[in-house]
Amino acid sequence: MGLEKYNKKRDFRKTPEPKGESKQKSGNTYVIQKHKASRLHYDLRLQIGDVLASWAVPKGPSYNPADKRLAVRVEDHPLDYAGFEGTIPEDEYGGGTVMIWDKGTWECRGNPEEGLENGKISFSIHGKKLKGDWALVKMKGKKGGKDNWLFFKEKDGEEDPEYDVTGEETGSAESGRTLEEIASEEGNS
Ligand code: MN
Repeated sequence: MGLEKYNKKRDFRKTPEPKGESKQKSGNTYVIQKHKASRLHYDLRLQIGDVLASWAVPKGPSYNPADKRLAVRVEDHPLDYAGFEGTIPEDEYGGGTVMIWDKGTWECRGNPEEGLENGKISFSIHGKKLKGDWALVKMKGKKGGKDNWLFFKEKDGEEDPEYDVTGEETGSAESGRTLEEIASEEGNS
């Protein structure tokens, strides 16, 4: 996908978000950013090659394997984005507050590029809040031109239908701050 779309959507004189530059850097960064834009959602990002493949998950993750959460694939983000926590000005693209809700690494079972292509990615997450096995499966058809996937917990002994991870874990994995604290602090990033 590349970063053209990412850069096109943003005015870097106005937003504190990192500029989209490809850095040849191997790694397996995983991050979920809680994003209070016009609607609250969670952005799941997985490093594939030198970008972060990204999905917007309106309801966020669930430890209940029966909760298959809609995950809309969005433009690839630069690797530096994984470290971004702060506030995007209201009238800019994605205006609102961004929190690093969870971070760590991920491990793909199989080839991740092929997974993207074939619409099925099975992987482990080594985060602070999310652990164990998870999956992304592409839905058939393109409703309204959207690239819709489902994001869900796979049964691995760590699943827990009773555990409300987004309800109980509301602070930043990076700074411990709440969305309100991030929003009220100036010069944050
Ligand atoms: Mn977002």
